[in-house]
Amino acid sequence: MTDVTDHSSQSLDSRPERGTAAYINTSHISHNLNVFKGLHPGKIIAVVKADAYGHGLKNVVPALIDCDAFAVATIEEALALRQLNSEKKIMLLEGVFNDYEMSLAIAHRLDVVIHQDYQVELLKTVPATHDMDVWLKIDSGMNRLGFRLDQLADKLNIIKDIDGMGQIRLMSHFASSDDIHCQQTRSQIKINDQIKTMGYEYSFSNTSAVLNQLNTHEEWCRVGIGLFGISPLGMESYGGDFKLKPAMHLSANIIASKYIKAGEKIGYGGHYTASQNMRIAVVGIGYADGYPWSEHNSAVKVDGLRVAVLGRVSMDMIVIDVSKLKHKLTGKQVTIWGNDLPIEAVAADLKLIPYALICGITKRVKYHVIQ
Ligand SMILES: *Cc1c(COP(=O)(O)O)cnc(C)c1O
Repeated sequence: MTDVTDHSSQSLDSRPERGTAAYINTSHISHNLNVFKGLHPGKIIAVVKADAYGHGLKNVVPALIDCDAFAVATIEEALALRQLNSEKKIMLLEGVFNDYEMSLAIAHRLDVVIHQDYQVELLKTVPATHDMDVWLKIDSGMNRLGFRLDQLADKLNIIKDIDGMGQIRLMSHFASSDDIHCQQTRSQIKINDQIKTMGYEYSFSNTSAVLNQLNTHEEWCRVGIGLFGISPLGMESYGGDFKLKPAMHLSANIIASKYIKAGEKIGYGGHYTASQNMRIAVVGIGYADGYPWSEHNSAVKVDGLRVAVLGRVSMDMIVIDVSKLKHKLTGKQVTIWGNDLPIEAVAADLKLIPYALICGITKRVKYHVIQ
């Protein structure tokens, strides 16, 4: 937080910087990994797909050096990660799609997930001298990727006989691990319990499953969003409840402020009408930076005060209610989400999920790494 606070106390200039920036706190990321090590004594796979959930892969990877493996979604992500870490296990969550990707997986020692027959066929191109670790995916009820449980023995038999295979492991994915009592989760747990008896190592739990203590200690947990300090549980659950610390602090500056009269409208479509005389400010962040357009509005934080966003989000700007603030505002730094404004709350206001917010930050936003 220190760096961020220091910026807001700088002397205000009449020509402000737009200052739209994401501060990535790498010690918070290491701290969060340690929190998960406390919750899960077994192996932890750090999921860093989508440019480490919008935090910047190169910023994040060094902070996660104590994880047991990494996971990403695409071959491009895996290659970028291999450049940053030449040693660690990397799991390709959707596996490979063609011979070329398989050749890259071989060359860069990637673990592949196998969820379709065409991928079983691609395994046959692995050189006999290689030992490729394979994660056979079972669809335990999400109806996304994976073989059905009744196909598993058959697929295992085929894969076991292919040359060049290393360890074969099993995996599955929860659809609703944020809700441990729902029927779907209970029936997925039953299938996972069957998978556990098959004599292979396995991986089921994502962040929600670990936070909800669905993880079995022998398994490899796949933790993504929690490493960034965020609770995916919804229902007014915050990372802080689990001692997690936000990895991203997103801020932007006030670039203009003005007084308007009762009855005047604000922004595109005139969606907000002032019910009284107000002081408003314009902040240099919009949906082209990753502050999402939504039917619903949230708030930002200025000088420790939570103030409403008014009217529609523009491409490059939002308008906020600063009626309670008296001093000069131009150039002042505003928290969009982060240390003093939990992203979980902003997402709930916007009727979005925090995943969509962090993954939505665009390249226009400047990144600063805080150790
Ligand atoms: C993204 C992903 C994860 C990580 O999920 P979080 O909710 O971010 O912890 C785990 N497993 C799979 C298959 C994924 O695609």
